[in-house]
Amino acid sequence: MDKNTSKSALEIKARTWLQDRGVTLDHIAELVHYLQSKYHDDLSMEECKEHVDRVLSKREIQNAILTGIQLDVLAEQKKLEEPLQQTIETDESLYGVDEVIAFSIVNVYGSIGFTNYGYIDKQKPGILKKLNDKSSGECHTFLDDIVGAIAAAASSRLAHSAANDKDID
Ligand code: MG
Repeated sequence: MDKNTSKSALEIKARTWLQDRGVTLDHIAELVHYLQSKYHDDLSMEECKEHVDRVLSKREIQNAILTGIQLDVLAEQKKLEEPLQQTIETDESLYGVDEVIAFSIVNVYGSIGFTNYGYIDKQKPGILKKLNDKSSGECHTFLDDIVGAIAAAASSRLAHSAANDKDID
């Protein structure tokens, strides 16, 4: 089957929404490269992109993307009820549900992902820095964690495939 026609409506929506919110496959692949280039000689951007693509094809990850972006957008439009509106709009540090959604993504590829997620969440390289810029007027309370988590999951996938782990899908 053609690669595009085999994508579900859910998958197409998740990929479109990421794009609409300013996050491309290349952005996430750059994060994977940032996390993994020191462990793999001559790691190419193409290879990183392939792992991101495979992570994005998983249903639980598509659902996390749609849920998080939906809440970000509603917060941006001031359509949530208080106190949730204020909490999400200001990215309150003790909220924590954004990170729980991120963990659900990282969890898909096992525990290596948690270390990668923690590290990238502290460093905030590339697109993560932009998503965290509070002066933009945009709300990415959920998306920054989701993007970091996708990169962490893709990094785990890469590590498993480099180790020739046949169980990885
Ligand atoms: Mg957040």
